[in-house]
Amino acid sequence: MLRDSTVVAKIPSELGRRAGKVAPSSLDGVEGVTGDEAASPGPEAARPVLSESQAMEIALAEAALAPAHGDVPVGAVVLDAGGRVLARRHNERELAGDPTAHAELLALRDASAGFVGWRLLGARVVSTLEPCPMCAGALVAARVARVVYAARDPKAGACGSLMNLCSDPRLNHSVEVVSGVMGEEASAQLRAFFAERRSR
Ligand code: ZN
Repeated sequence: MLRDSTVVAKIPSELGRRAGKVAPSSLDGVEGVTGDEAASPGPEAARPVLSESQAMEIALAEAALAPAHGDVPVGAVVLDAGGRVLARRHNERELAGDPTAHAELLALRDASAGFVGWRLLGARVVSTLEPCPMCAGALVAARVARVVYAARDPKAGACGSLMNLCSDPRLNHSVEVVSGVMGEEASAQLRAFFAERRSR
């Protein structure tokens, strides 16, 4: 079940207002969106069409929720092909006591549950941190079209840093990778978390 109202309600008000007022004619640059589609009635019309930068703002807001339960601040948003939010989650590894509870994986699970099954064709994942090997593998498995991340992870990044699972020709699907979107903000968030933890 897609939680439209929850998704919309959680979007920062300024962002929601701005995105909600986007006119069909200004969506030309948004991949996969046509004026007709954006103007069509139904549940989709209730969800704003977001740019990847706007989705990253939401991912950063998600990430900011993680330290409250001792988790490293990482957030992820899944957008459908039209740029509408399917899921938004943050890292819950400590909270859940689950080594697989990374933001990207949780968001992919939510998106699949409310989408059309496990194939997230045309979907984009926007993450505050470069996905690890597990999450990059999940992006490939889910047939995601594109991943956009903010901060590089030189120790565990599997979308270009240590390896690039998203564009390995031996795998049956490749995921386009875009890095560095709001990278400074995400890095600052991570630095602040680790500095605070060290100071205890
Ligand atoms: Zn991961």
